[in-house]
Amino acid sequence: MKRLVFKVGTATLYENGKLSKRIDNIVKLLSELNKDYEIILVSSGAVGAGYTKCPLDKSKLENKQALAAIGQPLLMKEYKKRFHNFDTTVAQVLLTAADLDSRKRTQYAKKMINVLLDNNVIPIINENDSVSVEEILFGDNDQLSAYVTYYFGADMLIMLSDIDAFYTDNPKINKNAKPIKIVKEIKDEWIKQECDPNDRFATGGIVTKLKAAKFLMERGIPMYLTNGKNLDSVKEILNNNQINGTLFLPKEGR
Ligand code: ADP
Repeated sequence: MKRLVFKVGTATLYENGKLSKRIDNIVKLLSELNKDYEIILVSSGAVGAGYTKCPLDKSKLENKQALAAIGQPLLMKEYKKRFHNFDTTVAQVLLTAADLDSRKRTQYAKKMINVLLDNNVIPIINENDSVSVEEILFGDNDQLSAYVTYYFGADMLIMLSDIDAFYTDNPKINKNAKPIKIVKEIKDEWIKQECDPNDRFATGGIVTKLKAAKFLMERGIPMYLTNGKNLDSVKEILNNNQINGTLFLPKEGR
């Protein structure tokens, strides 16, 4: 059975500081796909969820970490409630980058993930933001989701973003920017661009997505970037190989 990792960004989950209805559609899609695929979800949004209860000043790192600690159980509650409607069991897995650094720890984590997947449980993974500082500062789980895809032996990473594709330029600034359907090589100048987080919760931006794609392409794994609002696009790529977002395709598959 194919193993898929989905990454959902804060900008997809939250709208104007509130949890968006999009989470309902994402849960429905993943529950459906869970019949034919092994599904792992990497979800951001803990800081955003915490902020809805306790609007601390997010410019301070310790406040952001506290918000993640407040928000993580709230976010899990929202997921659990919705997945329950589809008789789908979920598990919370909090990782730090170091867990995937050493071979031994990676193996332990992978074995545990395999147990969950063998039992039809969807792991919902997040960076352990309240104790780690790197990802919370920069990345919004893009890097973590690439690591999860590679180290846990998945076949593809599907990033559900607030943007529907990778463009020739930032489409929010340049109206002439064109979407690129297939990317076979990540150019150095693309990942040297400055990150431009467009949301006060989101810290990712396109650069961290390109870095994630590069990491996976070098290891023979494809990544698909599409909009978290248009989930038909996910079905179309999986069922018909039809590309409505951007497919980052390695030269040689595994
Ligand atoms: P998410 O929260 O879904 O992870 P981000 O908001 O962090 O996503 O990153 C996507 C954003 O990156 C887009 O909304 C867009 O404003 C910005 N961006 C900058 N350059 C590009 C580009 N060349 N193609 C697509 N998006 C770009």
